[in-house]
Amino acid sequence: MLKLEIWCLSLGLLLQGPFTNAAEYFQLPTANQALFEKGGEEKFFAGTAGEAWTTGTFGCVRSDGWRLHEGLDIRCLQRDKRGEPVDPVMATADGTVAYINSRPSLSNYGNYIVLRHQIEGLEIYSLYAHLHEVQQGLKIGDAVKSGQTIAVMGRTANTREGISKDRAHVHFELNFLVNDRFSRWYRKTFPSQRNDHGEWNGQNLLGVDPREILLEQRSQGAKFSLRDWVGRQTELCRVVVRKTDFPWLKRYAMLIRPNPVAQKEGTAGYEVALNFNGVAFELIPRAASEIKGKAKFQLISVNEDEYRRNPCRRLVSKRGSHWELASAGINLLELLTY
Ligand SMILES: [Zn+2]
Repeated sequence: MLKLEIWCLSLGLLLQGPFTNAAEYFQLPTANQALFEKGGEEKFFAGTAGEAWTTGTFGCVRSDGWRLHEGLDIRCLQRDKRGEPVDPVMATADGTVAYINSRPSLSNYGNYIVLRHQIEGLEIYSLYAHLHEVQQGLKIGDAVKSGQTIAVMGRTANTREGISKDRAHVHFELNFLVNDRFSRWYRKTFPSQRNDHGEWNGQNLLGVDPREILLEQRSQGAKFSLRDWVGRQTELCRVVVRKTDFPWLKRYAMLIRPNPVAQKEGTAGYEVALNFNGVAFELIPRAASEIKGKAKFQLISVNEDEYRRNPCRRLVSKRGSHWELASAGINLLELLTY
């Protein structure tokens, strides 16, 4: 009998694949695994009030495509007697605690925690928001293991509308960090505005789509490469910046593509490919002889199809027949190169 049970279990594993695969860098942050089920979207994503599940996915999915949702809203599975969410929230990968906000009134994310991960040399930050509470005793700098419980799901947010019980979810992000000097830049650029979260202000974290990463990782198994995935982002535009030293170049050095001309003549700036959300996923050093204009930032091309699909970050805009960097685009480049 026992033998039969073991045999059934093994067959089950063979058919379904193991719950988590050792070759997978990231795992889902709660027990809700419906993302991996065919047609499981309704069970997995919490859409906004009265809207389709797609509004709980990552991207230009709100306000008719003009508002960005920078993470996944993952539905609650477990509730207490009063109907409050109690799902344990787990670390998506091995990492360290980078930031904890336990003053929910200071953020539309409510209580949230940020973890830092090093994956294939890429520094990635995961973020878990609207928490009831962060795990007692957890503090900045602590090491956490993939799958370790770091918090309890909740409904915290400082927005007027709040989050109703039936929409209870964890908001989960995977991010690139733009600049270590964010606080100084922000004070200089927006002197009248508060920054309660230091470097962990949402403007300094650029999200990528966790769903794409999790699904591709699941389908490719050990062949999955995060670096390759990042390098395959769809380009929104290409710019040249007349700066040769900024934090992104060090933090994401593996995204730099060598250029023999700049190697020989010296680097005067960088050509940067941005995805729709402003992630600089390819950087090419350029020699002075290769840069035409004098401007600090120059827009050299726009992928109009991608702009039509994902315009919500408004990084570029079209004036008549010609494209230019919009104020959000200039802001992003100012921060990137500060
Ligand atoms: Zn969300």
